[in-house]
Amino acid sequence: MKIYLAEHRGFCYGVKRAVNMAVSAVASNCPVHTLGPIIHNPQMVSHLQTQGIGAVDNLEDIPAGKVIIRSHGVGPEIYRQAEAKQLDVVDATCPHVKKAQQAAYELRQSGYQVVIVGEHQHPEVRSIVAWSNEEAQVVETIAAAKSLPFYPRLGVVAQTTFAANDFEAILSILKTKCEDLKIERTICTATDLRQQAALDLAKKVDIMIVVGGKNSANTTRLASVCQEAGCKTRHIESAGELKPEWFVNVQNAGITAGASTPEWVIEEVYAKMEEMNIGNVAKLEAGSVIKGTVVGIRHDEVFVDIG
Ligand code: SF4
Repeated sequence: MKIYLAEHRGFCYGVKRAVNMAVSAVASNCPVHTLGPIIHNPQMVSHLQTQGIGAVDNLEDIPAGKVIIRSHGVGPEIYRQAEAKQLDVVDATCPHVKKAQQAAYELRQSGYQVVIVGEHQHPEVRSIVAWSNEEAQVVETIAAAKSLPFYPRLGVVAQTTFAANDFEAILSILKTKCEDLKIERTICTATDLRQQAALDLAKKVDIMIVVGGKNSANTTRLASVCQEAGCKTRHIESAGELKPEWFVNVQNAGITAGASTPEWVIEEVYAKMEEMNIGNVAKLEAGSVIKGTVVGIRHDEVFVDIG
């Protein structure tokens, strides 16, 4: 069996940045809490707990010290409350999410009815809604877009991780729902790149192992993309869930991981699959296959000897 890694996988820029900011905050020797789990990955959340970074759901649960705003961002009221409690705010909101929040705020200020194309309960969407003064409509499906009333002015913002094709399909409906449509294209390319790389790999292998939190929307989506490509797919959170029987008669296996999956979790999965296999491995790079034997794995790269 050959094992391939998707070209784009794991931590995106915004998540890497948030985790690094959290780890740096610990050095200050005062209590550090994240408001909500910093990422949708239980292994990373437990790891941060061992570093002294707790996760709480409400500001009331933080008596003093630093509060880390995760990459999904929060609404303006949370900043006000944190200031009133004299908490030291470490703002790890992803800059792409900030842009979407700012767009919602400005559209509303300019008199547009804000529509957020995204998932109702996603924390990022909740934060963007808050920046629209809680007035935005959230639309997740074409059916929901069709059910909107007619508005003179509609301003559209996308959840950064929304599928680009679905966004365009919903936009085509929204165009019929107003006289003046302003579109802010706030989808981030990290998700698309991961989905495209997963799809490319799923078409070439017998099984795809998708690594990431079961509560991570983007990881679950990666698993669906692989499955929809007709590839046998297993979504796991850690190497311990791998089963040898999945790889019986498998010639080629692929690994991908959601934007909230740390590289070391991917490395453990990779190593466990190697243990189950013991043989040649390969890495998929820029759409081509390089055959070889793994000679080392570092934090963000797998080195392959192609000699
Ligand atoms: Fe930021 Fe994109 Fe990562 Fe979301 S997926 S945290 S928008 S880089």
